[in-house]
Amino acid sequence: MDNILDKDILANNLDNTIQRIEKARIAVNEHHIVKMVVVGKYTALENIETLYSLGQRAFGENQVQQLQERSQKLEDLPIEWHMIGRLQKNKINKLIETNPFLLQSLDSLDLAQELDKRLKVKSKKMRCLLQINSSNEDTKTGVEPQRAIDIYQEIDERFNNIELQGVMSIGANSKDKKVVRQSFETTRKIFEELKNSNATICSMGMSSDFELAIECGSNMVRIGSALFKDA
Ligand SMILES: *Cc1c(COP(=O)(O)O)cnc(C)c1O
Repeated sequence: MDNILDKDILANNLDNTIQRIEKARIAVNEHHIVKMVVVGKYTALENIETLYSLGQRAFGENQVQQLQERSQKLEDLPIEWHMIGRLQKNKINKLIETNPFLLQSLDSLDLAQELDKRLKVKSKKMRCLLQINSSNEDTKTGVEPQRAIDIYQEIDERFNNIELQGVMSIGANSKDKKVVRQSFETTRKIFEELKNSNATICSMGMSSDFELAIECGSNMVRIGSALFKDA
């Protein structure tokens, strides 16, 4: 966690990861653009600053507290901050104060209702992705795939302070590539149907599975550990 890495190591990890993303996205279509959000939850603030100096602009955190501390410490830098972890209701106000670029982990109608209510009070809006539990794992949050389209449209219609931009999902936690692929395909199908409702972001893929995710239609990957390896 507190391991501060040399700039050349981080530059090398960043280059390798970007090259892998490039290769995967061009295999889909040369016009298929994929954005990388660097997940800093395992790493020291200094490493985020180094990656910023190397050109990276989008960073994600999975805890509101950490997101707030880091965005305040680096407030002079034009960083795009993403909230990617489970949002507890008692942290909603704190999250609104931090004014994130995107909340990727809106995971229930109930949370949407509460978030919308608090946003209204503060006359603010927030861009969000609906998180889908495409692998139907109990340990994961997110809406069930069968209900995702209805819930997305309901949030879109009822909650005017939430600006839905698309969907987010975590791939199945399995060594079997077929199972992981299936979870990504499930999310992709939902995303395709939601394009009529102006969904533009399909966030899926992490260090262990981002190439497969891109092959399955992801246009936003969230990468942590692959960038912070120290060898
Ligand atoms: C930690 C985390 C990631 C990044 O995971 P790595 O395997 O380290 O790339 C991506 N998305 C979410 C929601 C996470 O919590």
